[in-house]
Amino acid sequence: MSSASPPPRHGLTPSSGAGSPRNGSGQPPAELLRRLRARHATDPVTHVERVPARAGTPAPWPAWVPAELRAAFARRGVDAPWRHQAEAAELAYAGQHVVLATGTASGKSLAYQLPALAALLADPRATVLYLAPTKALAADQLRAVAELELDGVRPACYDGDTPRAERDWIRQHSRFVLTNPDMLHHGILPGHAQWSGFLRRLTYVVVDECHTYRGVFGSHVAHVLRRLRRQCAKYGGRTPAQALTPTQARGGSRRGTGAVPAGSPVFVLASATSGDPAAAAERLTGLPVAAVTEDTSPRGGVTFALWEPPLLPPSSAVEEIADLAPVRRSALRETADLLADSVVEGVRTLAFVRSRRGAEVVAANARRSLDEAVPGLGDRVAAYRGGYLREERRELERALLRGDLLGLASTNALELGVDLVGLDTVLICGWPGTRASLWQQAGRAGRSGDEALAVLVARDDPLDTYLVHHPEALFGRPVEATVLDPANPYVLAPQLACAAFEAPLTPADLELFGAGAKEAVDSLVGAGALRQRPTGWYWRHRERPEVDLRGEDGAPVCVVEASTGRLLGTVDGGSSHFLLHPGAVHLHQGVSYVVDSLDLADGCALVHAEEPDWSTHARDVTSLSVASVRSYVDAGPVGLFLGEVDVTSQVVSYQRRRIATGEVIDTRPLDLPARELRTVAVWFTLSPESLALAGVEPADVSGALHAAEHAAIGLLPLMATCDRWDIGGLSTAVHPDTEAPTVFVYDGHPGGAGFAERAYGTAAAWLRATRDAIAECGCESGCPSCVQSPKCGNGNNPLSKAGAVRVLDVVLANLAAADGSPGAPGTPAGSDLTSPEPAV
Ligand SMILES: [Zn+2]
Ligand SMILES: [Zn+2]
Repeated sequence: MSSASPPPRHGLTPSSGAGSPRNGSGQPPAELLRRLRARHATDPVTHVERVPARAGTPAPWPAWVPAELRAAFARRGVDAPWRHQAEAAELAYAGQHVVLATGTASGKSLAYQLPALAALLADPRATVLYLAPTKALAADQLRAVAELELDGVRPACYDGDTPRAERDWIRQHSRFVLTNPDMLHHGILPGHAQWSGFLRRLTYVVVDECHTYRGVFGSHVAHVLRRLRRQCAKYGGRTPAQALTPTQARGGSRRGTGAVPAGSPVFVLASATSGDPAAAAERLTGLPVAAVTEDTSPRGGVTFALWEPPLLPPSSAVEEIADLAPVRRSALRETADLLADSVVEGVRTLAFVRSRRGAEVVAANARRSLDEAVPGLGDRVAAYRGGYLREERRELERALLRGDLLGLASTNALELGVDLVGLDTVLICGWPGTRASLWQQAGRAGRSGDEALAVLVARDDPLDTYLVHHPEALFGRPVEATVLDPANPYVLAPQLACAAFEAPLTPADLELFGAGAKEAVDSLVGAGALRQRPTGWYWRHRERPEVDLRGEDGAPVCVVEASTGRLLGTVDGGSSHFLLHPGAVHLHQGVSYVVDSLDLADGCALVHAEEPDWSTHARDVTSLSVASVRSYVDAGPVGLFLGEVDVTSQVVSYQRRRIATGEVIDTRPLDLPARELRTVAVWFTLSPESLALAGVEPADVSGALHAAEHAAIGLLPLMATCDRWDIGGLSTAVHPDTEAPTVFVYDGHPGGAGFAERAYGTAAAWLRATRDAIAECGCESGCPSCVQSPKCGNGNNPLSKAGAVRVLDVVLANLAAADGSPGAPGTPAGSDLTSPEPAV
């Protein structure tokens, strides 16, 4: 998250007037942590890392920054840029595409505002396009630019909420348009003729939070940016070949003028800290990109604790959320208690919870225990998530800034306004999926001069458990690379159809769209979507192609209260079968609703308020067949494969479970359509003899493979920027296509998103970490921390923990014998998609 004014890590400071709560300065984090720990009989903290404070390194304003712009920043309290801001701005001004990858609140926006606004002031015709992954972030940036009050810039948001009446004005007169990739794709590029003037004079394209463009979505956005470059080149009078030419090193001619060659805007990208940001930015834009990665802004010190909830006594298994009889106290319960305890201490606290439902539960539990302690105190805690309406979210933020609220449970750092930094304590409920997100969430804590506390609360999950016991995997290690695959044919073909609708495709265009473009065009011709003529490929239809950047998951499903017609919020299409099936219990701001009907065609679920004493848990069934093998390693009795598979899955039933006890009340059938998926999988096979030799009894084979599959899926996010919900798996004692005991792990997105490929490329390290996570778990016969899975379609049955370790030992021993270089078996096709990461 970026902030226009670099020096103070501000946000809360201005609002802490009379009546505001005690803040962290009165409560050193080490002391707060000591008190939180002391409430437990056994110490839940497995590791404490002290992240030291850092003094900032300012730099002089670049000489080309006009006095007017300096004065505008000075009015907002910015007297000089930090060195990383100046470095990135200088590169961009010189015409070099650049990515700035630094921490939360390091002031990334100043780095693109400087060259972009300088260009607008120097050339009264120049324009700038700013892209954010969320409307909320674009609105924040609009406010920041508008507050500079620069003449003639006329910044404006152009998104789905922009009234029709304003759109013409924006196209004609705004010179700083803020939008999102979806609007660029659905609105701006298909109507490029109306934008021709804007595109012809486009000087800078700002891509904010570019690390969020990963997986299938990122691959789509990569092509949307290529389509943008193509239209800019066309209106700028450049040939497609020139459009391909890097715009590097044209600084000499620009200095002093801010002028840019028509049709080739400079890309300035801002990213959270990530591994190899230049490579990811080049993959995203298709252009050579320089990286600035050293954060020179000041930051307060953070005490970072890793927290493992205690084991429950066997008889007291009480659970609301987890699918399974728990072994440990749930991370949600633990986080709710920590939130309540912090609020009692008067400490302003933000809890990040991965699921919207989890955020509701954390807020509700914290409110309940606070009200028990001091009636009315519960009102100072609220839940906050993306599905809420924008006004609701902003009001909650303001309440936290004012101090009316002391605790907030939120789903996603990205949904939060950029000003919401400088909190005293950040609680992270469950591993957020990537080290990059972990630091982004922890970065909300701490203002300069004050120490802050961050706590990662482990869930009952193999990866979380592994991480809280292997702090070296979290601290002092580079963060993950952002994985995307623009060559995915399921992305490339629809994107080329969109490009052809915008203007006929030429052979030079194919080069712009990269590897696989010719094959994709041929398939579109074969399917009757494109017609080949001597001058290129033409879109054959009147209507434009319907392509959703968010992959097959489709549009969000609206949750509507049937009796009032009130829109409660939205759920993404991919989760809707699981969360909004008829009979599902749905929580909103602590209020419980039950789903009456789910209309998939209309994207709408009707609900009524009801608070049953059960929770609901959907189940699906999956089958899989191998379509082709891309690459494999022959390791004697063990085989490792990468290839295409067809997966069919269907949500078929749901269980109702008693909230108080977790007891299953019943299982009810559902009538939802099956969903089919052609995707990429990694799989390994073992000979039955090798399993017998390793001591896996025939009756145990299914359970051993199944347990290994669950844990392997759980640990894959250690290797790639995915989470376990992006990944599916299937294991079987005999698969008809492999004729052997087999474990499959597949990308949950059509055509794959690079995850299975990454798993194949790092197989030895990945399966080693999986094996260790299972072997090191303190449970007796398997638990959610090792081999149980919250999304198992078979109710976690059968599972053999001991067998899984034996299976993985056999696989690892044979892979090592077959290939002396663990982590790099064979030569996976396209393994250059990923960057190497140190073996765990
Ligand atoms: Zn376990
Ligand atoms: Zn399973």
